[in-house]
Amino acid sequence: MRAQPKASHYINGRFVDDEQGQPLEVIYPATGEVIARLHAATENIVELAIESARAAQEQWARIRPTERGRILRRAADLLYARNDEIAHLETLDTGKPVQETTVADPASAAEVIEFFGGVVAGYNGEYIDFGGPFAYTRREPLGVCVGIGAWNYPIQGAGWKSAPALAMGNAMVFKPSENTPLSTLALAEIYTEAGLPDGLFNVVQGFGDVGAALAGHPQVAKVSLTGSVPTGKKVLSLAGSQMKHATMELGGKSPLIIFDDADVENAVGGAMLANFYSTGQVCSNGTRVFVQDGIYDRFLERLTARTRKIVIGDPLDPDTQMGPLINKAQHEKVTGYIEIGKADGATLHYGGGVPQLQGFEGGFYIEPTIFTGVTDEMRIAREEIFGPVMSVLSFADEAEAIERANDTEFGLSAGVFTKDLPRAHRVIAEIKAGSCWINHYNLAPAELPFGGFKQSGVGRENSLAALAHYSQLKSVYVETGDVDSPY
Ligand code: NDP
Repeated sequence: MRAQPKASHYINGRFVDDEQGQPLEVIYPATGEVIARLHAATENIVELAIESARAAQEQWARIRPTERGRILRRAADLLYARNDEIAHLETLDTGKPVQETTVADPASAAEVIEFFGGVVAGYNGEYIDFGGPFAYTRREPLGVCVGIGAWNYPIQGAGWKSAPALAMGNAMVFKPSENTPLSTLALAEIYTEAGLPDGLFNVVQGFGDVGAALAGHPQVAKVSLTGSVPTGKKVLSLAGSQMKHATMELGGKSPLIIFDDADVENAVGGAMLANFYSTGQVCSNGTRVFVQDGIYDRFLERLTARTRKIVIGDPLDPDTQMGPLINKAQHEKVTGYIEIGKADGATLHYGGGVPQLQGFEGGFYIEPTIFTGVTDEMRIAREEIFGPVMSVLSFADEAEAIERANDTEFGLSAGVFTKDLPRAHRVIAEIKAGSCWINHYNLAPAELPFGGFKQSGVGRENSLAALAHYSQLKSVYVETGDVDSPY
């Protein structure tokens, strides 16, 4: 299996490499085999990327937003047209099954690029009337923005960050996760093919030090990161020390609350989506599933039966529903948490093992795992595991569920399943989380802001809110009479 790109980086509209850079091997998580060999960016590559972004941005910002939007919409059309080919690449990069990548990865990037390409021309400043004199505001771009991606949704992350940045007249330098460098290069080529001027979307590969070099570069006006809370704190501090704009999409330990009156099949489906999709490697996952006493047994019975049917296997087989974790380190982390759960006294209700799959012995597979008898203090109920490990907790009443759901340092997401809609809205209003669902879980349409409260981050992606985060407001007061001066 090979997926070698033309070169490691994409700068100023073409592939470039610098073999002085640290070697970076791309591993197919299903087999452990090396599918591409790249180089991390050297200082020269970082400088080249930032300089080409800086040089291209000013002219881009002067282009009429309708025209910028048209280029983005062309890129979205190309992505839609090449969905299956890019989904295949994303599967090789991440190990996620094609059943997921063909519907969730390039398609989500395309949807967001299409959305921002469509709305940007209508996103303008305000007119303020002072009864003669007046003022207006301008939404101006920030300049060169840096995007740093995680490995769970590589092309989606690159699309979510680049689309609002480019739509608003910025340039972007993007560093994918070292684990998943491939699909972002495909996106860069598509932008060029769609007519995006050279230099506006550059991709540089590398490890955390390259991310830090980009985020701390004096020519960079904004940094947007998706990743873990510890990395988010480092990058936000760096940005803050230089008064840069920042968006942080970080981790979570989100609650999913299921009331007695919920439709049990919908609630089970929601809980499975909230824990097992992408082998549990989703920042917004609802990993603390609070189930009310009256529905608990039925919920667990149906959850177990449906989890038993999950097809684990070859990610390239369209029937496979669950692939491997991203790499060995993540596999060790997740299996480590399963051991911690058992040692802390939780009941391993289902899974917890490593499946033996013929032909995939070198892959980082793990069974979907359900713990019951979990208490709020246990580490598996407090820390982000980032794997398919669900904690099921029981509760008696609404007030208890709200209090326990909020007892976390995180605040990315939350979900409620109930047929009692006044209660659903009442509970969601009390939950301290940025991205919430009633009677569903983990949907992230382009039109809806996405982001966290508390330790889960700052800023928002998607929706018009993201355009605000990729622009700065200029206020212009206009006098229509004489200057009334005391001097
Ligand atoms: P990180 O948060 O460490 O990495 C996210 C991105 O930031 C990567 O591109 C990474 O580069 C880069 N990075 C790392 N350090 C720095 C730095 N100092 N300055 C700038 N950029 C930096 O996530 P990991 O991939 O290492 O995963 C670690 C854990 O984080 C996982 O086990 C998981 O629990 C959690 N995680 C959570 C995510 C979420 O969305 N909630 C997403 C990804 C991970 P590099 O390629 O070197 O890692």
